[in-house]
Amino acid sequence: MNAPGPAPDHVFDWLDTEAEKRAAAGLVRRLRPRPANTGEVDLAGNDYLGLARDKRVAGATAAAALRWGAGATGSRLVTGSTELHAELEHELARFCGTQSALVFSSGFTANLGAVTALSGSDSAIVTDKYIHASLIEGCRLSRADVAAVAHSDTAAITHALATRRKPRALVVTDSVFSVDGDLAKLGELTEACRAHGAALLVDDAHGFGVLGEGGRGAVHQAGLAGAPDVVTTLTLSKSLGAQGGAVLGPRRVIKHLVDTARSFIFDTALAPGSAAAALSALNVLRAEPDLPGKVLAVASRLSEQLAEAGFTVSTPDAAVVSVHAPSPEKAVAWAESCAEQGVRVGCFRPPSVPDGISRLRLTARADLTESDVDAAVKVIVDCAPR
Ligand code: PMP
Repeated sequence: MNAPGPAPDHVFDWLDTEAEKRAAAGLVRRLRPRPANTGEVDLAGNDYLGLARDKRVAGATAAAALRWGAGATGSRLVTGSTELHAELEHELARFCGTQSALVFSSGFTANLGAVTALSGSDSAIVTDKYIHASLIEGCRLSRADVAAVAHSDTAAITHALATRRKPRALVVTDSVFSVDGDLAKLGELTEACRAHGAALLVDDAHGFGVLGEGGRGAVHQAGLAGAPDVVTTLTLSKSLGAQGGAVLGPRRVIKHLVDTARSFIFDTALAPGSAAAALSALNVLRAEPDLPGKVLAVASRLSEQLAEAGFTVSTPDAAVVSVHAPSPEKAVAWAESCAEQGVRVGCFRPPSVPDGISRLRLTARADLTESDVDAAVKVIVDCAPR
């Protein structure tokens, strides 16, 4: 075979044009590697219960890695299902009150797998337009008719269900919307689904561990745990401080996912250390049922104080507190000055949020004291002049 000719240096020139456009719109992103133990106040991560560094949880990761190996060695259906995965699935289902659960390597792959496996060319999917990117990707891959309707508009969901052209239907929503932290109207959505023969899929990434009895999540709080027509997806990387995702629901749904969900079948299983960390964190949550209430108290304090200082702030339904910023450039500048002063805050710009919207996104943590919150608010007020 002939050797390939010289490599042309222009095939990626279009990337420079794209980068210039992003720079002009204030949408360049930068990775900021975080050293261990910075002493920063972290209001940017999703470690709501403060368990990612908990010695019991981190210790469980280390012990499982030594016992089972650093990686899972294969996909779930080949060598990747350890006894830890089985135990985690059993315990998640028991805790949340569903018949069954299936663990994935991330919340993203759990969402991809659940949406694609539960829909197809004979289905309609109706979603809130603010659902998480992983659900949107699932919709795109599904080959279903997809209608993404106005945010929090049950009448629009109902109309789309009633006028669909396909026999099967799936309504897809976040429980707590990830940018503004507002709650989906799960009761109304369930009613709409039941009136129109649709199943409901709820991504409880931000509700699990924070809402519902002992942190059982928004689906449990809405009285829908164990419902035969409701499927819940979770991430293990927020309240449980670990890594991975899960789908919870009726036994026959989970069996169907094992046989057909491509992001389950063709993906290397979750690392045993992460499964062990999630199990350990779940045990902590069971033993300390006051942790979710502490997160909510921190979120309220943050939001009340920032509103008093003159910011436009969301009223938090869970751990996420969203602060309006006037432009993407301002949001970045505010977040950078806060980081320089030792307070990490999230900064959301398009395409993470719709065009024209920019936010500082603060996340509450159960292990922050009132004086931690007060000091962080002072930094934010100083770094983001009104
Ligand atoms: N759903 C929502 C609502 C999320 O916020 C996230 C994480 N950003 C995910 C799913 C994806 O979960 P993971 O990070 O475990 O892939």
